[in-house]
Amino acid sequence: MHFKELNLDEKILHAIEQLGYTEPTEVQQKVVPVVLGKQDVLVKSKTGSGKTASFAIPLCQLVDWDENKPQALVLTPTRELAVQVQEDITNIGRYKRIKGLALYGKSPFAKQKFALKQKTHIVVGTPGRVLDHIEKATLDVSKVEYLVIDEADEMLNMGFLKQVESIIKLLPNERTTMLFSATLSDRIKKLSSKYMKDAISIEI
Ligand code: AMP
Repeated sequence: MHFKELNLDEKILHAIEQLGYTEPTEVQQKVVPVVLGKQDVLVKSKTGSGKTASFAIPLCQLVDWDENKPQALVLTPTRELAVQVQEDITNIGRYKRIKGLALYGKSPFAKQKFALKQKTHIVVGTPGRVLDHIEKATLDVSKVEYLVIDEADEMLNMGFLKQVESIIKLLPNERTTMLFSATLSDRIKKLSSKYMKDAISIEI
């Protein structure tokens, strides 16, 4: 299969080509069309499967460049993953000039607050710091249409469930939600049934 079969814009295809990706991985083949169709999705897949691009590609395509407020929020369990995801988004969204911003703890709040005043399409962050910014009104989530919960099992293992739930409750109800996890425990299934609507389940 070729990326051209995934109904992607030229700018996104060009960036993918520059990254040296010749064909979509299995998770990308299955997840990209579902997200482009704005359906909720629960994905069981491991790191190394190309899962980051499976949500970064459709998010970069779906966000509207002209909107100044963030349209997508990606929650990650660690700062390292947040930075990695933000870099992938910058690479994939390069020719559309998509601005991704990583927010994480143990880093100056004021600097992030300043960065959030600039046009940002996609925010990637760890739950504690993201919640902090929403509560202090330095992050406006009123235009967030897409939510990704990445490495959800790790998120729960690290004790972030309460913060993740608090964030979800502050987001618009009209949204597309994607949950990625290496394992699908009962807790993950409970989280997905609580916050997703008619989610498509994909297991790699
Ligand atoms: P991930 O599972 O998201 O951590 O991705 C694992 C690695 O695969 C990363 O280094 C990506 O840059 C790379 N990658 C993602 N999609 C593709 C693809 N379609 N073809 C080749 N490499 C890819």
